[in-house]
Amino acid sequence: MGDSKGAAEALPSRRFPSAGTIRAVTAPPAVPLLDLTRYDGALKDEIDRAVAGVFASGHFVLGPALDAFEQTLAQRLGVRHAIGVSSGTDALLVALMALGIGPGDEVVTSPFSFFASAAAVARLGAKPVFVDIDPETYCLDPDRLEAAITPRTKAVEPVYLYGQCADMAEIAEISRRRGVPVLEDACQAIGATYGGRAAGALGTLAAFSFYPTKNLGAAGDAGAVTTDDDALAELVRILRVHGGLATYHHERVGGNFRMDAIQSAVLSVKLPRLDGWNARRRAIAARYAALLGDAARDGRIGIPAEAPGREHVYHQYVVRVPNRDAVRKRLTERRVATSVFYPVPLHLQECFAGLGGREGDFPEAERASREVLALPMFAELTDAEVERVAGAVLESLDAK
Ligand SMILES: *Cc1c(COP(=O)(O)O)cnc(C)c1O
Repeated sequence: MGDSKGAAEALPSRRFPSAGTIRAVTAPPAVPLLDLTRYDGALKDEIDRAVAGVFASGHFVLGPALDAFEQTLAQRLGVRHAIGVSSGTDALLVALMALGIGPGDEVVTSPFSFFASAAAVARLGAKPVFVDIDPETYCLDPDRLEAAITPRTKAVEPVYLYGQCADMAEIAEISRRRGVPVLEDACQAIGATYGGRAAGALGTLAAFSFYPTKNLGAAGDAGAVTTDDDALAELVRILRVHGGLATYHHERVGGNFRMDAIQSAVLSVKLPRLDGWNARRRAIAARYAALLGDAARDGRIGIPAEAPGREHVYHQYVVRVPNRDAVRKRLTERRVATSVFYPVPLHLQECFAGLGGREGDFPEAERASREVLALPMFAELTDAEVERVAGAVLESLDAK
C-alpha cells in the first residue's frame, strides 16, 4: 500500500466539495438536533482547569479523580456504589458478567432500544428475549413480562428509553417473585426518578452512559455501573481490571473496562450542573407540549407522556406521526433537524436473525420504529428555537 498516503491526501478535495458548493446544495439546519459546542465560558474554564489537573497528576487511568467522581455520583443517585467504566455498553456488559450470565442463559429486555442493550447479552453467549413495549412510555410492558420468564432467565433488563423510567414497581415485583435480578439500562435516564427514587437505584444493578450526547456527557466514551450490593460492586471492580485487583493476578477473566481520569475530571465538573440542565430539558418539553397540545388533542400527533410518579429527563423529545418520513422530509426542508431513534427494532436486526425474530412479533415496537421522530432537545436550545421547531412541525403534519 505504498501509495495509500497519497490517496488519503487526495480524498478531501474529491469527496468534499468546496464550502461554497456545500452551501448551495444543503444549508445546515437552522435548528440542530443537538449542539455540543454551545457551552458557557465558566464551564469551559472549569473543565480546562480540571483537565490540567489530571495532566499535572500524571494519573491518566482510574485513580483519585475517578474515586472522587464515583463517590459524588453514588451520593447523587442514593446508591452505595458507583463504578466508573469505559462506556455505557461496557457498563451493561460488565454488569451482566458480574451476574454470571453466559451461554444458555436468557435475559429479558426491550426490542425497542439502542443496539447495545441486546448486544451486551449476545456477546456473553446468552440469549436476549424480547418483550414488547408499552406504546405510551416506549418502555418494556410489565404486563407481558411474566410470560417471557423461563427457568433459563437470569436477568431482566428494562431500558429507560428517551429518559423516562420503565414501570419499575411492577417489573421489580415480578422479578423478585421469580427470583431474577434486574439490570436497569439507565443510559438515557440519568437524573430521572420513579416514585422519588433515582434511576440507577431501582434494580439490582444499573448501567449509565456518559457518551457526549447523553444528558451527562463526557469528552469521549465513559459509563458507570451502580448497585447497592457490596459483593456485586466488588465483582464489577475486579472485572473492570482484567479480573484481578492485584496486578498480574487474575481471579476471573474480565476485561479492560476502565474509565480515563480525564473523563472523570470532566464529569465531576458537569455533574453539579446536571439537575439544572435536566430542569431546562423539562421546561423545553413543557413548551413543546403547550405548542403541540391542540394538534395532539385532535389526534394529529402523539407527544411524550410522563407517567404518574415518574420524572422524565427528556434525553430525547420524541413525537409520533403515522406519516413520519414525509413529516421528517418537510422539516428538513424547513431546516429543522430531526432523527429517528430507532428505525429498526432489535428483533429484526440482521445480526439477531438467528434468534428467529419475525415481523409481527412485537407490533408496538415495530409501529414505534415507523412512527417516532425526535425533535431538537438540549439544555442550550433557546425558546425562539423551540417555537420555530413547533411551528414547523405543525406546518408539516399533513405532508404526504
Ligand atoms: C447510549 C446507550 C447505550 C450505550 O452507551 P455507550 O456509552 O454509547 O456505549 C446503551 N443503552 C442505551 C439505551 C443507550 O442509549
